[in-house]
Amino acid sequence: MHHNIHQFILLSSILFGNFLSSETYFVNNKAQYYQVTKNLNAGDTVVLEDGVWNDFEILFEGEGTEKKPIQLKAQTNGKVFITGKSNLKIAGSYLIVSGLIFTDGYTPTNSVIEFRKNRYELANNSRITEVVIDNFNNPDRTQNDNWVTIYGKNNRFDHNHLSGKKNKGVTLVVKLNSVESQNNKHLIDHNYISNRQILGSNGGETLRIGTSHYSLQNSDTSVINNYFDKCDGELEIISNKSGNNKFIGNFFNESRGTLTLRHGNGTLVKDNIFIGSNIDHTGGIRVINKNQTITNNYMEGLKGYRFGGALVVMNGVPNSKINRYHQVENAVISNNSIINSDHIHLAAGSDQERSAVPIESSFNNNLIFHKDNINPIKIFDDVSGISFSNNIISNSDYLEIKNGFNLKNLEVYKDYNDLTYAKGITSIGISKNLTKIAKDKTGVSWYPKHKQTNTFDTGSAIKIEPKDDAIFNAINSASPGDILMLAAGTYRVQRILEINQPITIMSESNDVEIFFERSSLFEIHNKGSLKIKGIKIYGSESPDSSGNSVIRTSKSILDNYKIVVEDSFISKLDVNHSFSFINPSKSSFADLISIKNSSFSNITGSIIIMNKEFEDYGVYNAEYISIEDSKFTNIEGILIDIYRGGTDESTFGPHFIMKGSKLVNIGFGSRNKQKAMMRLHGVQVTDINNNELINTQPIKIFHTVGEPITSITSNILDSKNKLQIVELNSAEENTAYVKNNRFVN
Ligand code: CA
Repeated sequence: MHHNIHQFILLSSILFGNFLSSETYFVNNKAQYYQVTKNLNAGDTVVLEDGVWNDFEILFEGEGTEKKPIQLKAQTNGKVFITGKSNLKIAGSYLIVSGLIFTDGYTPTNSVIEFRKNRYELANNSRITEVVIDNFNNPDRTQNDNWVTIYGKNNRFDHNHLSGKKNKGVTLVVKLNSVESQNNKHLIDHNYISNRQILGSNGGETLRIGTSHYSLQNSDTSVINNYFDKCDGELEIISNKSGNNKFIGNFFNESRGTLTLRHGNGTLVKDNIFIGSNIDHTGGIRVINKNQTITNNYMEGLKGYRFGGALVVMNGVPNSKINRYHQVENAVISNNSIINSDHIHLAAGSDQERSAVPIESSFNNNLIFHKDNINPIKIFDDVSGISFSNNIISNSDYLEIKNGFNLKNLEVYKDYNDLTYAKGITSIGISKNLTKIAKDKTGVSWYPKHKQTNTFDTGSAIKIEPKDDAIFNAINSASPGDILMLAAGTYRVQRILEINQPITIMSESNDVEIFFERSSLFEIHNKGSLKIKGIKIYGSESPDSSGNSVIRTSKSILDNYKIVVEDSFISKLDVNHSFSFINPSKSSFADLISIKNSSFSNITGSIIIMNKEFEDYGVYNAEYISIEDSKFTNIEGILIDIYRGGTDESTFGPHFIMKGSKLVNIGFGSRNKQKAMMRLHGVQVTDINNNELINTQPIKIFHTVGEPITSITSNILDSKNKLQIVELNSAEENTAYVKNNRFVN
């Protein structure tokens, strides 16, 4: 094979290379690479041999020309793997890099790919194309790095595949830190960017252009025909923080958050498609600042609200500081179609500080249709600075705007492009020729566009008999999604069971007892998720030491995980103090903790501990926690402790539901410092419904930022003072919806 390649190179040199005095260097180790790249000339090509290049910090520099660029390539696209502590820096002019895969490692610096060598040596007129970065994450998810950082001018980043960013930091960022990187005219196009898991903190943006500091500079970057697939990191999928950018023809599939025009003026948002599939917090476009144009965009099935709605026009701060909210002025919002989306918020965020209402703006020719006959428009302040005309809406109930909306009984249909139109309506809403960018026209053809695999019960059922190490051995030989079916009997587990894939452990007959002899029964690792169904778990044979738990996470876990518990019975977690059910490590993050139809009794610690992020950075440990139809008796610790401190507003959770459950004698252990049966601090959505609480410490709810939605209805409690709701950031009365609760005393 090598022979052939050398022959090929020789042949190319004879035919083209020598004639143009350009060289092709085929390299198969790092030393060779560093040697040949010391002095590259215009027209030279460096080819990396197929295989794995571990711990490879690639500096690629040189001065090419438009006609004779300098290229770095894979021998075969998709067969060159850059692993370990590796990165790529390019500096100079007319450089092209293609065909590499970064995986199974992480960058030792601030970026995986950086368009500069250092502060002073940038890349211009250069291109990164057909490069893959897949799950290339620092194992410590709190460590901040960017995957791609673009500096310089006239650079292109196209047809790349960026999937599975999990640690803190922006996936793709354009920096404007010096004059040499401003008015840059970069082109970011046809990239496939996917699977950004929920970060549970600010710093999970998928694309950011600029920073507030340089936001009054123009970037003039074009973001065209990119495919954003399940980019859920935080409130901002895209954080635009500079001027004169263009977002055209991008497709946002099932992504939580919005394209946010956070800072900077004069940006065009045109021909973009947002499909939410009715997933929580899927959003569209958020408008702030001057001279923004939002036209011919399509939003469908978006559930987001407040700053995450389908279309949000914000209030500003009078004489705003550079990093706060500038007033909306001269916004043009026209010919957008907003279909089956729940929230369009105008003058959003109006409060004492954000009092500057939108001015000199227009809202014309937009089509708003909702199949459930909802009027999605909500107004939070004076919108007389927006002129409304020629819009069509399917329901105008409660609409305070008198003119500019025609109420029509719309008959809608999906056209050839899978987009919804209204029969008989032309020139209002999106044009007929708007189409979604096809997935296979983005990214690379030679690397699969993965589906997420973190799902239960998709594998095969494996029968287990109650023998020594039977569960341990079965877990070690299982495949993702497998179901371990435990035959009736008593299982004694002598090792911590490490869960590193989605696994279900269930009983065939509801007659399975598990005792465990280590400080924890299950430990969730990367890629792990656990479902328990119909199992009895006892802590009476666990070590006689404090702080045991049934489920914990490994100390450093990067992947979000899920725990589902159904029809199970957990008892005698009382061999020593502070014995808990779920006790994850700091900086771990659960997408879901769900307990259904289960019973918990005689426990010295807590059921769910999600309070590890005590620094008040707006960070938290679980997105959705739900408890349904379950019973808790004699729990000494706080039953549930959820803590999200600070005033940051870039995240959606945590969410908490408890319903249909009975709680008796909860929280009276002397080690329960909160003196509460439950603490919900900074939880954004709370629904406590139809529960019975007998002899418990109080429920303590602390509202922080972000207009939390709290509903406490139809519960039975000992007395009124068992329900304590405190507003930490507002002098107003608390905003919780408390109704139909019965107090026994
Ligand atoms: Ca952010």
